[in-house]
Amino acid sequence: MSIQVSSVNKFYNQQQALKEVSFEVGKGEIVGFLGPNGAGKSTMMKILTGFIKPNSGEVLVDEIDVLTSALEAQKNIGYLPEHNPLYADMYVREYLHFQAAIFKVDKTKIEACIDKVGLSLEAHKKIHQLSKGYQQRVGLAAAILHNPTVLILDEPTTGLDPNQLVEIRTLIKELGKEKTVLFSTHIMQEVEAVADKVIILNKGNIVFKTDMNQLKSTNKSLETLFREVTN
Ligand code: ADP
Ligand code: MG
Repeated sequence: MSIQVSSVNKFYNQQQALKEVSFEVGKGEIVGFLGPNGAGKSTMMKILTGFIKPNSGEVLVDEIDVLTSALEAQKNIGYLPEHNPLYADMYVREYLHFQAAIFKVDKTKIEACIDKVGLSLEAHKKIHQLSKGYQQRVGLAAAILHNPTVLILDEPTTGLDPNQLVEIRTLIKELGKEKTVLFSTHIMQEVEAVADKVIILNKGNIVFKTDMNQLKSTNKSLETLFREVTN
């Protein structure tokens, strides 16, 4: 298993953001993480990547305990946070060199990552000069610099135009050929187009998990299902 989460509970003061959340993601799977705003998706992703701690539960990524060995686990994890925090005044290549230095990645790997995310023609520009779609590519390049086995992508296509959306979706699918990917989104077609499995979270609870093939055989659209389990 690439990701194993069991009985995770997370409180922000009195408010419980995650309730006994358990799920698994197999090696090489692409999993869509759905849920209304405030469902707890980002909280779960921050816990998975070791940025915040749950109040209880167990989290393993590539068999490494994220709660006790976050730094070790992070070597296998690429993370694109929600709102993709970038240094807009830096040049693309400069930013990736900066990230590589922080994460002690061999600088000779940078050009291959630029190439892989389709940034070759834009890498000489400042980040703020790029369209939102290309800025997402910079975030994705930064996330894969250290060649992680698992990618956690928090709403990677939110705010993109229809063309950019398809491009980033294709890129996620491409990256998913060699990595395990858990991505959150509000777009049902995206999950249908890219994911092998779907997990739906509502008010901190997992309310549905299924295989996309299994879902297809029920003849029910993901959108119908989503509304049934989150309303
Ligand atoms: P999602 O990503 O699914 O929209 P979040 O994980 O961001 O959901 O939020 C889940 C719940 O936890 C929301 O009610 C949100 O307001 C709350 N929450 C998230 N982060 C914090 C925080 N740092 N402090 C207090 N409450 C928070
Ligand atoms: Mg979120």
